Amino acid sequence: MSSLRRRKALLSIYSWSNGYATESKRRGLTSVPPIEVGFTESAGRGVFATRRIGAGELIHTDKPILSHPSLSSLHSVCYFCLKNVASNLPFCSDECRLQSKIFYDTEKQADWSRFHEYCRTQGLKYPLLVKRLACTIISGAATPETLDILQPATLSSEMILLMEKAYQLLRSTFEDAGFTDEQIAFLSKKWYIDVLARIRINSFRIELALGSYEDILLSAAASVEAEAAVGNAIYMLTSFYNHDCDPNAHILWIESVNAKLKALRDIEAGEELRICYIDASMDHDARRATLSEGFGFDCRCARCMSND
Ligand SMILES: [Zn+2]
Ligand SMILES: [Zn+2]
Repeated sequence: MSSLRRRKALLSIYSWSNGYATESKRRGLTSVPPIEVGFTESAGRGVFATRRIGAGELIHTDKPILSHPSLSSLHSVCYFCLKNVASNLPFCSDECRLQSKIFYDTEKQADWSRFHEYCRTQGLKYPLLVKRLACTIISGAATPETLDILQPATLSSEMILLMEKAYQLLRSTFEDAGFTDEQIAFLSKKWYIDVLARIRINSFRIELALGSYEDILLSAAASVEAEAAVGNAIYMLTSFYNHDCDPNAHILWIESVNAKLKALRDIEAGEELRICYIDASMDHDARRATLSEGFGFDCRCARCMSND
C-alpha cells in the first residue's frame, strides 16, 4: 500500500473508532476501548494498549463487516448474527431482519441452489462471504473496494484455478436472475480473486462459546468449550491484531457473531496486543507450517524463536 493510501486507511480507522466511542457513550457504556492502531517494526499494522489492561478484562467488542453462516448451520442459526434460532427461521429478531436488508433483498431475487450445492460438495466457505459482499454491493450499501483496507494476499496459480468454478457459478446466478451487466460490472474474475484472497487470510471461523455470558467473561482460560463452527466472519478492527503463538489477548464469541476481545494477562500501556490465529497447542513445526501456508508469514514470536 502506498503511504498516502495507508494514511487514509488509518484515518478512516480512527474516525471509525471515534464513532464507536461516541456510540458507546450514547448507549451508556462506560469507556472508550483502551486501544489504538499503529505501526509495528516488523509486522506492519498492529493494535496497541493505550493504558494498562488487566488480565481477564474485556478490551472491546467488534461487529463484523461481513459474515455468513456455514451451510450446515443455515437452518439453525440467524442468517445475520449467527445466534441459535429455535425453528427454521432465517432471523433471530426484527433487528437482524432489518439489518440484513442490505444483502438479503438482493439475494432473495436469485436461486442459490447450484452455488450452495457446489460450495457444500467442495467444502468451500469463503465464496459464501463473497456472495454476501456482492449482494451488498448490488444493493448499494457497500462498494467493491470495501475490503481493500484488509491485508492483501497472493494465491498460487493452482488455487486460482480451483476458484474458477465458484466464480462462474456466482456470476451466472446473478445473470440467470436477470441482474444487468451494469449491476454486476464489478464482478470480474480479478475482483473475485482479490477479494477471496483477502477473505482467506482475514476471516475468523466462528465457534460460539457454551455457557453463561458472565462465566465466560470471568474465565481466564485461553479457550472455552465451543460448539462446532457456525460460520465465518471478517472484522475491521480485529483484523489489525497481529499473531503470537503465546498471545496476550483472545477473541471469543458468546451467543452471536459479535466478537469479544479479552486480555489473557496483564498488559502494559503501549504494549502490542496480539491474538493467536491458529491452535496454540500445536507444536513448533506444525504452527510454523500452518502459519506459513495459511497466512503467508514465518512466525518470529518469542515462543517460536525459543523453539518451544
Ligand atoms: Zn440475529
Ligand atoms: Zn510463533
